[in-house]
Amino acid sequence: MKQVAVIGLGRFGSSVARTLAESGCEVLAVDVDEVRVKAIADEVTDAVRANALEEEALRALGLRNFEVVVVAIGHEVEASILVTVLLKEMGISKIVAKAQDELHGRVLQKVGADMVVFPERDMGVRLAHTLISRNVIDEIQLSTDYSILEMVAPHRFLGRSLKELELRQRFGLTILAIRREDRIIVSPDAEQTLEEGDILVALGQPEKLEGLNE
Ligand code: ATP
Repeated sequence: MKQVAVIGLGRFGSSVARTLAESGCEVLAVDVDEVRVKAIADEVTDAVRANALEEEALRALGLRNFEVVVVAIGHEVEASILVTVLLKEMGISKIVAKAQDELHGRVLQKVGADMVVFPERDMGVRLAHTLISRNVIDEIQLSTDYSILEMVAPHRFLGRSLKELELRQRFGLTILAIRREDRIIVSPDAEQTLEEGDILVALGQPEKLEGLNE
């Protein structure tokens, strides 16, 4: 079972903590605000009120035993940076920190965060890409240009093979898998024809998908 500590229980932090707990992880939720700690106490393994800027209080949480510590302090940029420094000094194996913007993200990386997340920015990008191509239902961004996309096979593709559709040439899409009802066809061959309800899992550039719209 994965042991994860989440420091900062705003909307982002509490959502991370709840989801991890629901997935069976052992979750320690920490916030300086008693009300936020109480609000989540029944849903996580342990919920503690502590000011993570106080080194002694932070050490007392026994965070070294945790595989991952998430710093989900957002608006208070200075606090998020200082807490990341303290965690790094404590030798935490993996620190994930939430950034407000690019500069904040760069500082977090410099002071030792192993992974920096930008929830607002990333959600905005995902929404925009979903709006560009209405067929896209989910996206994992791999770089600024490339993503893994999950999309409903457009109607006009149905009954046609991947070879005929020439998705790579026309849209720069490489089909990694097709989800069909409750099974998955991994690395489909060129002769594979598409059926109603197929979900395509593809590697590609979201900006190039406008032509896919029905
Ligand atoms: P969102 O609600 O969208 O996640 P956010 O990331 O800006 O927004 P905040 O509302 O700033 O989140 O909440 C961050 C949480 O971190 C708050 O609950 C706040 O009490 C907590 N926090 C801030 N400083 C500390 C600290 N030094 N130690 C522990 N918790 C802290």
